[in-house]
Amino acid sequence: MKRIGAHVKTVGGVDKAPHNARAIGAKAFALFTKNQRQWQAKPYTKETITAFKANLEEVGIAPEHVLPHDSYLINLGHPESEAREKSCLAFLDEMQRCEQLGLPLLNFHPGSHLRKISEEECLSLVAESINWALDRTESVIAVIENTAGQGSNLGYRFEHLAAIIDQVEDKSRVGVCLDTCHTFTAGYDLRTPEACDTTFAEFERLVGFKYLRGMHLNDSKPDLGSRVDRHHSIGQGKIGLEAFRYIMRDPRFDEIPMVLETIDDTIWPEEIELLYSLEHETETA
Ligand SMILES: [Zn+2]
Ligand SMILES: [Zn+2]
Repeated sequence: MKRIGAHVKTVGGVDKAPHNARAIGAKAFALFTKNQRQWQAKPYTKETITAFKANLEEVGIAPEHVLPHDSYLINLGHPESEAREKSCLAFLDEMQRCEQLGLPLLNFHPGSHLRKISEEECLSLVAESINWALDRTESVIAVIENTAGQGSNLGYRFEHLAAIIDQVEDKSRVGVCLDTCHTFTAGYDLRTPEACDTTFAEFERLVGFKYLRGMHLNDSKPDLGSRVDRHHSIGQGKIGLEAFRYIMRDPRFDEIPMVLETIDDTIWPEEIELLYSLEHETETA
C-alpha cells in the first residue's frame, strides 16, 4: 500500500512529530532530527527518545515509514577538507539521532562542488563521507535525495546518484529519495504517463528501484529543466496531477514513505486525501 504523509513540525521536541502526522491523516512523515539551520543541538534526553517511540507506536506508523531529513548546512562533498570534516561530524550526529529514535533512514542532499572541483571529484568525496559515517554507525541507511541542480548542487542527474552508490562500500546501507519537483526541474518530464514511463525507466536503468527508499511529492512552480527548486501544491504547478496519479497507481512506489513538502501546509490533509483518491478512482478511459 501507499504511505503518504508530509514533513511535519517538531515544535516542542521530535516526540511531537507522530501526532502531528496523525492529525493530517498521514501514514508516513518526514522530520528534522534537530534545528536544520544550526550546526549544534543538545543531545536527546532519555524521555524524548522514549516518548518518540511510544508516540510512533500509538499512531501506528512503522519506523521505516519515517524519513528524517538532515540539516541544510551539511555538504558531504565540500571541496575544502576542514569544512567537509565539519559536515561529516554533523552528518554522523544526525545518523546517531536516527538510531537513538529507532529510525532506519536518513535523507540528505548529496553536496555541492562550489565550482572549486569537478563534479566527479565532488561525487567521490560525497561517497567517501558516506562510507566514513556508515563505518561509525550500526544500521541507518543513507538516503541520497535527487536535487533540482540549483547553483553547484549535485544530484540532479540519475548518473550522479549512481556514481555515489557505486563508490559506497556497503550497498545495503545506501538508498535514494526522488523528489518529483527536483526530478522535473532537473529536466526529467513527468507530465504524462508516457513521460513518467520514460523517466522512471531511465531511473531503473541507471540507479534501480531496489534503491528507492522514499519520495518527496511536490508539484513545481518552475518549468521543466529550469534547474530551480520551488515547490508547489499538488496539481497546482507545472507538473500537474497526472504524474501523481501515475505514482499512486504504480506498485514500485508501495511501502516507502512518500512525503509532501508542498508550500501550503494548511491543505496537507486535503492533499493527502486527494492522493489517496487517485489511487482508487475508477478508470474513465
Ligand atoms: Zn525534497
Ligand atoms: Zn526542493
